[in-house]
Amino acid sequence: MTKIPKEILKNVFGFDSFKTLQGEIIDHAVAGGDALILMPTGGGKSLCYQIPALSREGVGVVVSPLIALMRDQVEALNQLGVRAEVLNSSLTPIKIREVEQKLLKGLLDLVYVSPEKLLTEGFLNQLSQCKLSLFAIDEAHCVSQWGHDFRPEYLKLSVLKNRFANIPRLALTATADGPTRKDIIERLDLKEGRLFISGFDRPNIKYTIVSKDNSKHKLLKFIEDNHVGDSGIVYCLSRARVEATSKWLMEEGFKSLHYHAGMDKTQRQTNQDKFLKEEGIIMVATIAFGMGIDKPDVRFVAHLDLPKSLESYYQETGRAGRDGLKSAAWLAYGLEDVAKISNFIESSNAQESQKRIERQKLDALLGYCETTRCRRQVLLEYFDEKLPDPCGNCDTCLEPVNCFDATVATQKALSCVYRTEERFGASYVIDVLLGNDTERITNFGHDKISTFGVGKEYSRDQWRSIFRQLVAKRLLLVDIEGHGGYRLGENCKPIFRGEETVLLREDSFSKKTGRSKDKKTKRQKTHATLNNTEDETLFQTLRAHRLELAGEQKVPPFVIFHDSTLVEMAQTRPATITEFGQLSGVGKAKLERYADSFLTVIKNYS
Ligand code: ADP
Ligand code: ZN
Repeated sequence: MTKIPKEILKNVFGFDSFKTLQGEIIDHAVAGGDALILMPTGGGKSLCYQIPALSREGVGVVVSPLIALMRDQVEALNQLGVRAEVLNSSLTPIKIREVEQKLLKGLLDLVYVSPEKLLTEGFLNQLSQCKLSLFAIDEAHCVSQWGHDFRPEYLKLSVLKNRFANIPRLALTATADGPTRKDIIERLDLKEGRLFISGFDRPNIKYTIVSKDNSKHKLLKFIEDNHVGDSGIVYCLSRARVEATSKWLMEEGFKSLHYHAGMDKTQRQTNQDKFLKEEGIIMVATIAFGMGIDKPDVRFVAHLDLPKSLESYYQETGRAGRDGLKSAAWLAYGLEDVAKISNFIESSNAQESQKRIERQKLDALLGYCETTRCRRQVLLEYFDEKLPDPCGNCDTCLEPVNCFDATVATQKALSCVYRTEERFGASYVIDVLLGNDTERITNFGHDKISTFGVGKEYSRDQWRSIFRQLVAKRLLLVDIEGHGGYRLGENCKPIFRGEETVLLREDSFSKKTGRSKDKKTKRQKTHATLNNTEDETLFQTLRAHRLELAGEQKVPPFVIFHDSTLVEMAQTRPATITEFGQLSGVGKAKLERYADSFLTVIKNYS
């Protein structure tokens, strides 16, 4: 096997050129340097350590926190003809011995280990007898208590520096804000290494946010219009909602499964496996699902409930479109969620300083939901990155939002909250504004106050949108005592005095969402990147062939070829082995293994 990175890229992985930073990182690692590498999901982190491991002498040791992740990565490497194995607690003792023997005899290019396994004295001793090319520490944010996936064992990885002083160490992660970044460098002792940061933008993901009224209906329309036959993830907050939503999607004619921490382990495992190995499954899940799901062709991530923060949103939506093909992030948000999260923050036992941070995070999230600017710009700014121009691939760019002068409406809303003694939530206050004399309202005597019935110029939905935006602007604060009531924010005064104008976004309230009538016969839509039906049919045929091969080998289809390779195959229709070898994603091993059978499918089709 050749040792030049560029040749490995072509011969093993079948790619012509490096993605951003990959080349530089690989050169640095091949030369023996340490590094912390921050790249978004789908940025191409794996090659940053896989190629140096193949280029340098000896075996590369990859630390990874999740068994499922290791398995898929190793499977994909084996498909490429790379000698890789897994070592973790899921293996039988016999298998473990077998892998350890291979390791000691120098028969492996890469070995993926759990931190627990790596840190046993026995294994560390074995490693000292091996020729090592490098250590790669994947999901390195697990070392930080600030991060959301803290793993105490990761802390002990600091021993690597002392015990294997001359072996390069590469730490990789897709999520590391300032404090986490510092933590990783300190705890893994990477001060002398280089820091590589690539931008966090995910240009292939289209961001859309809708209001939560009628959210199931809107979700259905979103899937039917854009994602029939695609794999996707739908996140919900509670287990009960997860199960109900999945059941409902099945009734609507979709292939759907569910996943949450309350299920027994086998069932969870089975569902996750199906999601990886079959095509077109919609996984409805709590956030327990996702970390370590390396499936490259998740075409959409939908949130039926508000995520915890913008970080979580970025992370969860980031699971869409790892393969770089067109994908979507969709979120339905409403005031109920804001009340729920506020309540959660206020009723927790956390210190006031912690609560303050959490409130700021919620504000940032609401600001993002209610923005009239390009969503991508707002999202990236939160991560201290500047996108100079609006992206053209989010809802606010594609359908610019109209704003209206809502000063009077705001005064009415705020004053109604004040006159009802800052105790009630949106539904009640809106009823008062609309002049609905419900029993509760008359009991409280609120049909007698001056703001009763002064808001009839807007519908209930319009008022809800106004209240959402007032909360996002912190003119109204939600739920200090856990009852979902509003109180006035400190910045209200100038508005009451008429000294400040309030501009709010005009939501498209009246849009009725039409549904396709026959819900059982869902037409497969044209693949986002294919623009004629001939290519599309061939693509589907190739996909079916891939699924069959994957089934025989009991591996996920994407380890055979990614969708992007099949799309290219359908468009260019190679007729010879040489032409087939030019496809992106076809290296030597895959050429030998699969060219014949795929060429036959293409020939028969033409
Ligand atoms: P990450 O681990 O950063 O999420 P991966 O390493 O899984 O990203 O890579 C994301 C996708 O990009 C994969 O489909 C991978 O095959 C592809 N990829 C990586 N590097 C290149 C490259 N140089 N050229 C083309 N495709 C690449
Ligand atoms: Zn945009």
